[in-house]
Amino acid sequence: MRTITHFIDGARVSDESGRRQDVFDPCLGRPQAQVILGDAGVVDRAVASAKVAQKAWAAVNPQRRARVMFQFKRLIEENMAELAALLASEHGKVISDAVGDIQRGLDVVEFACGVPHLLKGEYTDGAGPGIDVYSMRQPLGVVAGITPFNFPAMIPLWMLAPAIACGNAFILKPSERDPSVPVRLAELLIEAGLPAGVLNVVHGDKTVVDAILDHRDIKAVSFVGSSDIAQYVYGRGAANGKRMQCMGGAKNHGVIMPDADLDQAVSDILGAAYGSAGERCMALPVVVPVGEATAEALRARLIPAIEALRVGVSSDAEAHYGPVVSAAHKARIEDYIQMGVDEGAELVIDGRGFQLQGHEEGYFLAPTLFDHVTPNMKTYEEEIFGPVLQIVRVATSQEAIEMVSRHQYGNGVAIFTRNGAAAREFAAEIEVGMVGINVPIPVPVSYHSFGGWKRSGFGDLNQYGMDGVRFYTRTKVVTSRWPNDGGVVDQSFVIPTMN
Ligand code: NAD
Repeated sequence: MRTITHFIDGARVSDESGRRQDVFDPCLGRPQAQVILGDAGVVDRAVASAKVAQKAWAAVNPQRRARVMFQFKRLIEENMAELAALLASEHGKVISDAVGDIQRGLDVVEFACGVPHLLKGEYTDGAGPGIDVYSMRQPLGVVAGITPFNFPAMIPLWMLAPAIACGNAFILKPSERDPSVPVRLAELLIEAGLPAGVLNVVHGDKTVVDAILDHRDIKAVSFVGSSDIAQYVYGRGAANGKRMQCMGGAKNHGVIMPDADLDQAVSDILGAAYGSAGERCMALPVVVPVGEATAEALRARLIPAIEALRVGVSSDAEAHYGPVVSAAHKARIEDYIQMGVDEGAELVIDGRGFQLQGHEEGYFLAPTLFDHVTPNMKTYEEEIFGPVLQIVRVATSQEAIEMVSRHQYGNGVAIFTRNGAAAREFAAEIEVGMVGINVPIPVPVSYHSFGGWKRSGFGDLNQYGMDGVRFYTRTKVVTSRWPNDGGVVDQSFVIPTMN
């Protein structure tokens, strides 16, 4: 069976003593490879390599660093089909979705190609007599990223592209459930001209995460995953004096106003709720129709549209979505469906018990729809992360705003309406980090930044865009004086002023 190894100092490195974990093919429900799980020693080795490489890399001028990103972009594009197939084989998402995963990461690589401009500091000429002031952005040194299973290309690229372009060395700890694509990306970066050691990939579980969080030479850690772990990682890393940004779970709502274009909204909701089997932090697993008439009209359109969805293997070009990632995750989603029934929600379409012919052991779930879900239900409050859509009926738009704002998560939200004033008020009032107006999955483009509120995000700088540059650099301000006559300047013993 194939072994997925760490990638340190420019090469794949096997650690025969390491623990191993199976990597599954979710379409078949069978192990297809094993990933080596590292320990503190492997992290030490990666950091030692990164420390040496980073010094030289930071001294490379920004335009040359950008050229490596341009080459990396070209290589990702040239290898798109291979990367997408590899990604789909471990994650289970359909190929078109795997391409989307890589493409959204590629957008951030393109953003990082502009790093010379992004790193420009500020300058004040003549802040005082013969005094000039300038600021510069300098890399932090060795930084790390810990990523989830659901976007094995996009999220590593969100982090490593800006971090490396800014002159840092990066240690990536990808999800142990689909670890192959991050290693391929590291190889492509070396092919693009990145010096060995600037990007190291270390596989593992909590043992490696803790070693990263405790390592004194790692200056910042970016994390994306579930909220309890995000909060833990944030706390432990911050206690060790590191700069931290930790994105967590989500439960995003789509509010359907009575004046919405319902056909368009239903089409948008289907993709946002069931695409990627609901395993997206920007999925839309809750719809909130405003008014009973809207709810009935929405439900009537949703049911046949959901029943027409096709669940299939990753390579099925007609399939809308594939299996979920693991047997354990499938069982967890089924438990939530049962919990919804027990809590008194109306199970309109039950996706349990679905089997795909020829793939009976695969982790497939048909789409599930609940109606009459209420905010006090645990199945509403918690993230299910599967192909399960819940309808929560409200009477007014204000009730919708208050309910969404009260929810423990605040990643994304969408409103569907034709009323500009209502949309504007909604966007201003809602306590959520990313808002879509007739846009079901409002993931910001690469030159804005991505981040949720409340238990969806810990830390104050978001992913990519200018926040990414800020996260991976620190600002230094230089105040300089060059007296005209070159003579001795009268030094005062009070705090200097610019008078
Ligand atoms: P996860 O929290 O299980 O794992 C994320 C990372 O943490 C992995 O690298 C994993 O190895 C590591 N990890 C797991 N258990 C750990 C522990 N006890 N201590 C330390 N590290 C540990 O998340 P997942 O299941 O891989 O991904 C799905 C979750 O990620 C969902 O909750 C989803 O909403 C969230 N997510 C959030 C965003 C966002 O930007 N807000 C984006 C994508 C996914």
